Amino acid sequence: MAELGIPQNTISILQKYGFRFQKKYGQNFLIDPSVLERIVDAAQIGEKDCVLEIGPGIGTMTQYLAERAREVVAVEIDRALIPILNETLSAYPNVTVLNEDILKVDVEQLVRERNGGNPVKVVANLPYYITTPIIMSLLEKRVPVESITVMVQKEVAERMQVGPGTKEYGALSLAVQYYTRPKIVANVPPNCFIPRPNVGSAVIRLTRYETPPVQVQDEEKLFDLIRASFNQRRKTLANGLSNATKLGVTRERVVQALEEMGLPPTVRGETLTLEQFARLSSLL
Ligand code: SAM
Repeated sequence: MAELGIPQNTISILQKYGFRFQKKYGQNFLIDPSVLERIVDAAQIGEKDCVLEIGPGIGTMTQYLAERAREVVAVEIDRALIPILNETLSAYPNVTVLNEDILKVDVEQLVRERNGGNPVKVVANLPYYITTPIIMSLLEKRVPVESITVMVQKEVAERMQVGPGTKEYGALSLAVQYYTRPKIVANVPPNCFIPRPNVGSAVIRLTRYETPPVQVQDEEKLFDLIRASFNQRRKTLANGLSNATKLGVTRERVVQALEEMGLPPTVRGETLTLEQFARLSSLL
């Protein structure tokens, strides 16, 4: 029975254990059953699924996930939450809680051990201070993941979904859109959490492509190029890329490649589509 989403139950358990929120871990716990249902619905969890949850907190969403999935592995950094999770998840033998920092976990090995290397579904109300490194490492390290359904800061969700020509567009948008099809599934106001965050939140589902929408010979090179293009956002591509020592290209070479693509030498990275970055990467 999933019951922690009810605010009074969350407050009682926090009081029982004298729990103190740690700001440094981005702890904002969900207290809205309809939002919890919406996340688990968007993640399309079924009885065959193995779910990786990042940051279970007191186990609120974990209960919802455990009701539907075959197995849930929940990775929580805060040791003070472990005894609470032992109590709140005691009715769910299909949940394993690991007291670890997700950024230090070898997720690929974990997936091998828990799901025979088959793709897992990642579901999380993420600690906002590490949203980008978590998502980037799940995508770039090619961990077997079918989908990632996460609550993030609203602006970050928008950044993942936007295309060129907006100020939110950047390396995160391109990485997300190279590996996955992103879709914002809900906007969530601060009053759905305890304590309330200072920012609006959104739930986004990233569905992994079997093959990326553009083909490149060298993915690492593509992402070096993309990062270099946005590191010096206010410079033209020709200047920014020739300054990036890792790429080892001259300004003339960049200008020539841009010309072949029918682009002016003054063009900036923020106006290029994923397809254009792929083409530029091949030409350079
Ligand atoms: N899932 C719970 C919920 O929805 O109510 C809690 C979400 S809260 C926004 C983020 C959780 O991630 C906290 O429990 C926090 O302690 C945990 N956390 C923060 N940094 C972490 C890390 N590096 N590795 C694993 N868990 C982390």
